[in-house]
Amino acid sequence: MNWLAICGVFSLATPAIADSTSQEASAYQELVRQDARLATIGYRLALANAPFCNKLERSLGWVLHDERQYPNPVAARISLEFRAPISVSAVVPNGPAERGGIKSGDGLLGLNGTYWSWEGEPVRSKSAKRLEKVQNELHQVLASSNAIDLNLMTAAGSKMLQVEPIAVCASRFWVDTSSKLDAGADGENVRISEGLMAFAAKDEELAAAIAHELAHNLLNHRNRLSKIGRKRAHILATEIEADQLSVWLMTNAGYDPAAALRFAERYGRKTGLGIFSESTHLRWKNRVKTMRTEIDILNTASKVNGLSPPPLLPGGSLATR
Ligand SMILES: [Zn+2]
Repeated sequence: MNWLAICGVFSLATPAIADSTSQEASAYQELVRQDARLATIGYRLALANAPFCNKLERSLGWVLHDERQYPNPVAARISLEFRAPISVSAVVPNGPAERGGIKSGDGLLGLNGTYWSWEGEPVRSKSAKRLEKVQNELHQVLASSNAIDLNLMTAAGSKMLQVEPIAVCASRFWVDTSSKLDAGADGENVRISEGLMAFAAKDEELAAAIAHELAHNLLNHRNRLSKIGRKRAHILATEIEADQLSVWLMTNAGYDPAAALRFAERYGRKTGLGIFSESTHLRWKNRVKTMRTEIDILNTASKVNGLSPPPLLPGGSLATR
């Protein structure tokens, strides 16, 4: 999801409207492509590690977007498929939505027999509000049901499809349109900047960045830090834990954990004295050392049902659940 940061990035008032629209159209397409990439990798990590997560949620394995979230709706309609104002921008391969027959471009009209009406809304009302309302309703329904009926506008007309969500580690993933190399985790969301996504062009390296942020959420670092205080030593300890857990999360999801070492080195060399080099963050050589040690531990640890139970996660074992 990207509505938080997209506004204001693109200018509407340029003399060469055609050029500007086509530029915006390709920027939107790229954003949707990166959204799909983040959703796919995030889903894979959150699904594979579900047996070890305390906090689970039901996922449909899709990304929704609202035509209003794009500053230039004309460019959005030219370049992206919207069969309704709120549509599916991507489905995760082999996820519940795809298995239920949903395709990207399908419009979401309502759920469980009810339909949303957007008529009469002020044209310039914030897109985030409308999409947030839909996301919240979905969230509530998914929290209490094993199946959901979705009313959709598909290429073949309006249709009701039943989809069975799947339990994954709780975390939302969204692309921040910043060109900086930046990422963050606030306990519920994993945010990755477009700049970082472009830098991590290989999916395995992007998986390393996502796994690190997801680890912060799974370890409840934000709350823990607000309780014990954000002292440098405390922040550093959470950074080490996130690096340690990330290689387990990656391995369970079928990614090569050595990609985390390559990513930390490339990122460290590129950013030099950037945030990860401040005293609260390990310098990249230490990060690589920490993760290499963790990979050695992982390689000698016994597997349960083909997975490696991460020692840092509560329970830490399939057998205890
Ligand atoms: Zn971190």
